[in-house]
This record gives sequence, structure tokens and C-alpha cells, in this order.
Amino acid sequence: MTEAPVPAPPLPVLCWACSKVLDPFDRYCRHCGKGQGDHIPWYYTRWGILVASLLGLGPFGVFLVWRSPKLSSGEKTGWTLALLVLTGYVCWRLYQVFTMMNAMVGMALRGF
Ligand SMILES: [Zn+2]
Repeated sequence: MTEAPVPAPPLPVLCWACSKVLDPFDRYCRHCGKGQGDHIPWYYTRWGILVASLLGLGPFGVFLVWRSPKLSSGEKTGWTLALLVLTGYVCWRLYQVFTMMNAMVGMALRGF
């Protein structure tokens, strides 16, 4: 006769945001109200950080990176570097556009 394996008692679960002990089946923290597990806010997921950074936050997406419970510290460093490089690239391109527009305006004012 075989018995179904008894699941190990779950380890105490800590809230990723406030570090207080939660019931293992809590979906939201009882202390600070932050979602847990699958209920972590979308902007702390990898795609959420990417979309929020590209569509508006820009370099400030780094704040989401460092607050996210979904990323390891190595991943946070990588994301931070990637966002800084991307920001530098965008600034450089904007500067190029600015200098080109400046030259065109100058030519137009001189009557070509
Ligand atoms: Zn909490």
C-alpha cells in the first residue's frame, strides 16, 4: 500500500517589502499591503521595468530595478548598467539631432 507523500511544512514566508512574517498562503502582506508571489505589482517584473523605462521613466527605471523583489542583486547591477548605457545613447542621439537642427536653422537664416 502506498501513501501519498506528506508535503513538508512550509517555511516561514517573509514579505519582500517590509520583511514581516506572512502566512504562506497570503497573497498580499498583512502589514504593508504589497502583493506577494504572483501578485507582485507589474512594474516590478522584468517586462514591467523595461516597458516603464522605455515609455517614460528612462533612467528613473533604476528605482524600480532596485526595489523589485523579482531580480537578484547581480541582475539589478546588469539592469542598472543597461539603463545607464541606454540613457547615455539616447542623450547622445538627441545631442546629434540638436546640433543638426541648429545647423539647419543657421543655414535657413543665412538664406542658404
Ligand atoms: Zn509587507
